Amino acid sequence: MTDWDDDPFESAERASLSARASGGIAARAMAARPAPYLDDLNPEQRRAVETLDGPVLMLAGAGTGKTKALTTRIAHLLNTGRAQPNEILAVTFTNKAAREMKERVGRHVGGVIEGMPWLGTFHSLCNKLLRRHAELVDLKSNFTILDTDDQLRLLKQLVQAHGIDDKRWPARMLSGILDQWKNRGWTPETLPASESSAYNHKGPALYAEYQRRLIELNAVDFGDLLLHVVTIFQKYPDVLEKYQRWFKYILVDEYQDTNVAQYLWLRLLAQGHRNICCVGDDDQSIYGWRGAEVGNILRFEKDFPGATTIRLEQNYRSTSHILAAASGVIAANEDRLGKTLWTQAEGGEKVRLIGHWDGDEEARWIGEEVEAYQRGTRGLDPIGLDDQAILVRASFQMRAFEDRFLTIGMPYRVIGGPRFYERMEIRDAMAYFRVVVSPEDDLAFERIVNTPKRGLGDKAQATINAFARENGISLLEAADTLVADGAIKGKGGKALGELVRGFARWRAIMLWSAAPAATDDAVIDLDDPLPERPEGLEEPLSHVELAQLILDESGYTGHWQNDKTPEAPGRLENLKELVRALEEFENLQGFLEHVALVMSNDTEDAAEKVTIMTLHAAKGLEFPVVFLPGWEDGLFPSQRSMDESGMKGLEEERRLAYVGITRAERHCTISFVANRLTYGQWNNAMPSRFIDELPEEHVDILTPPGLYGGGFGAAATASPKAQAMRESDLMDRAANADVYKSPGWARMQRNSARRSVRQPTEARNMVIDASATPAFEVGERVFHQKFGYGKVTGLEGDKLTVAFEKAGEKKVVASYVTAATDVPF
Ligand code: ATP
Ligand code: MG
Repeated sequence: MTDWDDDPFESAERASLSARASGGIAARAMAARPAPYLDDLNPEQRRAVETLDGPVLMLAGAGTGKTKALTTRIAHLLNTGRAQPNEILAVTFTNKAAREMKERVGRHVGGVIEGMPWLGTFHSLCNKLLRRHAELVDLKSNFTILDTDDQLRLLKQLVQAHGIDDKRWPARMLSGILDQWKNRGWTPETLPASESSAYNHKGPALYAEYQRRLIELNAVDFGDLLLHVVTIFQKYPDVLEKYQRWFKYILVDEYQDTNVAQYLWLRLLAQGHRNICCVGDDDQSIYGWRGAEVGNILRFEKDFPGATTIRLEQNYRSTSHILAAASGVIAANEDRLGKTLWTQAEGGEKVRLIGHWDGDEEARWIGEEVEAYQRGTRGLDPIGLDDQAILVRASFQMRAFEDRFLTIGMPYRVIGGPRFYERMEIRDAMAYFRVVVSPEDDLAFERIVNTPKRGLGDKAQATINAFARENGISLLEAADTLVADGAIKGKGGKALGELVRGFARWRAIMLWSAAPAATDDAVIDLDDPLPERPEGLEEPLSHVELAQLILDESGYTGHWQNDKTPEAPGRLENLKELVRALEEFENLQGFLEHVALVMSNDTEDAAEKVTIMTLHAAKGLEFPVVFLPGWEDGLFPSQRSMDESGMKGLEEERRLAYVGITRAERHCTISFVANRLTYGQWNNAMPSRFIDELPEEHVDILTPPGLYGGGFGAAATASPKAQAMRESDLMDRAANADVYKSPGWARMQRNSARRSVRQPTEARNMVIDASATPAFEVGERVFHQKFGYGKVTGLEGDKLTVAFEKAGEKKVVASYVTAATDVPF
């Protein structure tokens, strides 16, 4: 018998319970209080708030006041004395949303609520429940929650113990499979037979073993938080019943994004009194990739027969142009219930559409626009920075904005993650660069000496530290000596030796490549002898190539390539973006200085800040001004999600577009660029197919000043579709020399030339007679013996920059390249 049996509630909650006991009159007095908050609602919302008994499903489009109704419903429950704050279970999607909801409820009921302990995310609520009943699943209440790193290490041990080839069957793959199973609510015992072949038929057994091991460690992973609680509810009906009685009312926001395990949990809790109110929008389901199932919404009416279904159609958030644009896009989805939305806010600014040369240009333009809104130009009232947001599809896109805003001193905040240069992978990568540039940078060395894991324990690291201190030398030097003396042995010692040699080589490459005319014997200064040519290096490397080399040879890129967690692809993209950002600088050192300076350009305390966040994180939020950059096929819709999930993936991307546009209250600007580096390749980007789906009459096409000259700009009055087609046509004709004569293309060419001037190898290539080399054109498809097919993206003397289809972007010597049309097959 456990003590919760007598008294399942924490003391704070008990206190409020007794307050209730003595407060019967108070409760009635509260019930008699007027409810002015009801006056703010339309009749349907009011019905959702006042139908307190029985199941309620509110299924409605964006901005129709679902969250508002849900919040008001909580206030109403409290105000009428139907429930105490701690008897209401309310699920929000983020902790931030939970905080906001509490505040709003407080305002409605005049601040009398004593906190709502059961208002939070699924994870936070389950964590709380599991701590109370841990022993029922053989855990102790002080269990640890493993992060993904720990989880993986554990899985690796199991995989190894089974003699499984980690190369063919990486532990990360197993970790992904287990997450999915947990999202579906499957324990090792309830795993269906259909899964038996998973992970080379070993998945189910390893799952069981992993769960046993976690129990031994008194640990859980994130998926377990929910799964264990569901198991407890299923195995111990008496426990379940207590909570069913205790939570008199259950409310769930963003219901379309619940997964099966969450759904089971809710259904179990609600089955007693059935006072459950769920609100959602099937058009905003954007977490399918994490196991969310829109089908849960459709099942609601089956599971809770007699449910009151409420549909809201008036959108209170956006102007009619914005709403129409969003509706136009989402209409292309086949798999949807379909709704009509209207708004009283007629007119206003149309959705603006604009194309740019590249991501930096896009960031510069948006920076100016943010300032323009802030000042109040174009006859508009000034709109503060807090009311403006930039919503991106992929987090690597943030870098260009952050750099730009730091440069012009515009305060900004990044929601849902650290700022670009503060991200873990960016700091790691820069630590490598720092040690190459200044080998005595101990802080940087310490950061990456065992990242990725090189088998250097605390002891080895302490040895290096002590030796460095004793001898007054840098950690790198100390490591070098210790390795040479054989003082650090084993796998760690070997790996450390490789790292030290790596640093020596990378630095030598940097020095030799940067030396003036390293291949030219005209300049010889005996006081400052030329650096020696590093062995095996035929040609100097640009600092951009060197950076890539460092990340690859150190094993850092591979570390994230092997990582199968959902964050890994994003981190790899961020690394590519970092390397790309390097192009704008003379050398590594210049870049590192830039970062140090912009990061100290501190606008932290500014009162108002523009928000940068991902579309996923923006769910449920609203801003008067919204910018949606990067609407290019491949980036948005994301190629990966289309490759992985086909039509379903595309439809989820389209819902994300719908979520994006519907965040805007008054101004929405969509942009795309002609050149984007994605997955490490410069691409002639095509405007997103979603742009084609924007209804023309609600869109205003802007021409960036001076960009694309008359060619692209002349289309300013054309339909978005025609415009987009013209743009893609331009791309298709890229191989056609005529195009290069257009003023727009000339400008692109100039830009491209300007870019290549920054390459240190340029100067040397100047001596080569360009007429002697085969003539290629930007955009031309070519074939290279080693790298296969690709498209020329830059010309520079006898060298071409080619975006190879398989090998990524490379600089190659023109004479090794053949025009694709000449390849004989
Ligand atoms: P989403 O689907 O994006 O989560 P939602 O349906 O939850 O949207 P809310 O965020 O609740 O919508 O409301 C959108 C905006 O409309 C808010 O600013 C809210 O205050 C306002 N609003 C909602 N209902 C009303 C109403 N009846 N009268 C006036 N304003 C309203
Ligand atoms: Mg909402």
